This record gives sequence, structure tokens and C-alpha cells, in this order.
Amino acid sequence: MIYLDNNATTRVAPEVIEAMRPYLTEHFGNPSSAHSLGREMSAAVERAREQVAELLGAADSGEIAFTSCGSESDNWAIRGVLEENPNKKHIVTTEVEHEAVRNLCTRLEQQGYEVTWLGVDSQGELDLDALRAALREDTALVSVMLANNETGVLFPIEQISRIVRERCNAVFHVDGVQAVGKIPISLRDIEVDLFALSGHKLHAPQGIGALYIRSGVKLAPFIIGGGQESGRRAGTSAVPNIVALGTACELARTSDRHETIRSLRDRLEDEILTKIPNARLNGTPDREKRLPNTSNISFAYVEGENILVHLNEAGVCVSAGSACHSTTHESSPTLRAMNVPYTAAQGSIRFSLGRFNTESQIEYTLKVLPGIINRLVEMSPYDQELRALYAAHN
Ligand code: PLP
Repeated sequence: MIYLDNNATTRVAPEVIEAMRPYLTEHFGNPSSAHSLGREMSAAVERAREQVAELLGAADSGEIAFTSCGSESDNWAIRGVLEENPNKKHIVTTEVEHEAVRNLCTRLEQQGYEVTWLGVDSQGELDLDALRAALREDTALVSVMLANNETGVLFPIEQISRIVRERCNAVFHVDGVQAVGKIPISLRDIEVDLFALSGHKLHAPQGIGALYIRSGVKLAPFIIGGGQESGRRAGTSAVPNIVALGTACELARTSDRHETIRSLRDRLEDEILTKIPNARLNGTPDREKRLPNTSNISFAYVEGENILVHLNEAGVCVSAGSACHSTTHESSPTLRAMNVPYTAAQGSIRFSLGRFNTESQIEYTLKVLPGIINRLVEMSPYDQELRALYAAHN
């Protein structure tokens, strides 16, 4: 199978498996134990913490706390800030966040919090004036993603952090889950207070995440119990997974594959957009403002689900919109927020590349895709609209 669905999850890298294997076999022990086996495990956890801190450009490895996934990191950040600031009932976030933030904020709204939902323009970019206008004295938290999981559009978190600092003293949380390992990040240079990441998006296994908590930021614990993670997140540390995340961060930091992924994505995107008449890009065409591995493309007047099934039969895995929406027929909230017409949003496909993709895989995808789209175009009930599009293209 050709796997072009790396924003959904990634294959665990062989180097990561090798690094975690001893912690599933000969090395065991509870890192909280005082004996030598425990101390060895604890040393492995601290090494991994440094590897994560290094990839994030954090000033201190003590700013990293391990969690079970990106969703936990986001939930902890948001709920932890609200618990610390019981008198502030206002939250600012965006309409295009991942469910881990969006659904939590909707729930908080139902529980009495006021949420300002910032919209995006047709290219998926945030209106910073709307952000300025939304910030208030009683804003407890601003929660914004760095990279959108569906379109790859990047939000300017450096600018956002400055605006937040100028206007109020809200805590600034960034959902960095899709960005980590794909673009350089230096948290010591940006006034971000909290930052979520997830191991399975960067070739570590599922079941491990982390939250960066800037030194001095007050955050109530999410899981209460033992004193693990400096009393911030209880539960016996998942040492093999933590070692895996550390190794995956090291791999991402030292990888020489980043430029190859970018050029394969560019090739795929350019060729689809020039050769297929009903294809249009979702998200800004300015590639500096998008993740280098992601292309979200709508094939107007055909069903994304059908494209997915045909590509799957041809041996290529992609997503129709976000993986999380694959069981519903509603178009994705992100594409809706961007005002993508329904007939285009329904035909949206996300191609997301990773370190294991090769040129021949991209060539193969480009070979099979036009035929699939053609077959679906012939079956589409929108024949007049399609004829007009094809005539304009030729
Ligand atoms: N945030 C973003 C932007 C994501 O893309 C995802 C997963 O797709 C998450 C959070 C949730 O991460 P996890 O699957 O590790 O819970």
C-alpha cells in the first residue's frame, strides 16, 4: 500500500522500535522505584524529556510533561487553565480546531463559559483583527492550532502571542500536534505558554503525547494520583512509549528527509491542479503558510468517499477530509468555515506525505488518479457544471 495519510497517523519508524524494544523486554521497573532498575527507567524517561525539549526548542526539559495523546494534552491545557482562573469565564479559539479543542470548548460553552469562535477566510487564514477585538480582561485562555490537520494551513503563532500579550494576560495554548516534526519550532523564542504534541503523528506509537508547560505557568493537574511528572500528571510512566517519543523527536530533528517530502508534495499538488480540470486547492496557495507535507484538494462534483474507495483499491491510502469525519456525510467544519462550496467540500481529499514516501509512489498515484476522477466525473449528476469546467480548462 502507498500510504499518503500521514496526518491521520504514521508508521512507527524502525529506529523507534529498536529504541523502545529493550524497555519491553530486558529493561523493566517502575521509574518511581528507588532501586537500580527503577533508576534506569527514570533516567530513560529524563533522556526522552530532553529529546522532546530539544525538538521544540524549549528552554528547559522540565517544561515537558508526558501524556497519553494529543487530545489529552489539549484537554489538560484548557481545563487546567480554567481551573487555575475560576473568575475568568471567557475563552478564545477558532472554528477550525481539531475536535480535541473544538468539542471541549463547545462543552464548556454549555457549562456556562463564553467562547469566541474566530473564523477564517476562504484560504483558511485567521483574521488577526478579529482576534484583537475578541480579547478581554476576563479572557482566561486563547487556544489556537499551529497547523491545521485537514489543510495544513499554519497560523502565525508568533504574531498571535504578541497580540495576546499586548491586550490581556490570558494564557496562550497552542495545539501543535500536526506541526511537530514537520516544521522547525523554537518555543524559547515565542511567548507560548502551553503547547500540545502527539507521538503517533511523528513515527512514535499511538498512546503517547506531551504537553509543554512554560516555566512559571500555573496549570492545575489533570490526572490526580501519585507524584509522577513532578506532580502534574499522575499515572505510572509509559516508559517504552516515552522512550519511543524521545527517539522519534530526535529522528525528526536530525532527519534529512524534510526537503524530499516537500518536493514530493509539491510535485503531487502541482500536477493534480494543472492536469485535472475539476481540482482546486483548499487552503492558501502560499506554500510558506502551509505544512510541507499536506495537500487538501477538492474534486468538484464528485464524492470524496468514492475517490477514497477507488484509490484504496488501486493501493493508495488517503483521507476524505479529516479521518475523524469519515463516517459522516457532513462536510468538514474546517472546509465549511472556509466557505468551500458544498459540491467541492464533498469531493475533498487530503494527501499527507511522510518520511517513507518515495518518488515512484507519487508517480504511481499521479498515474492512477486522473482515470479514477474521470470515471467518477462520467457518473456525476452535475454534468452541465462539469462540462463547463472541462471546457474552461481545455
Ligand atoms: N490536534 C490536532 C491538530 C490533530 O490533528 C489531532 C489528531 O489528529 C489531535 C489534536 C489529537 O491527537 P491524538 O490523536 O493524539 O489524540
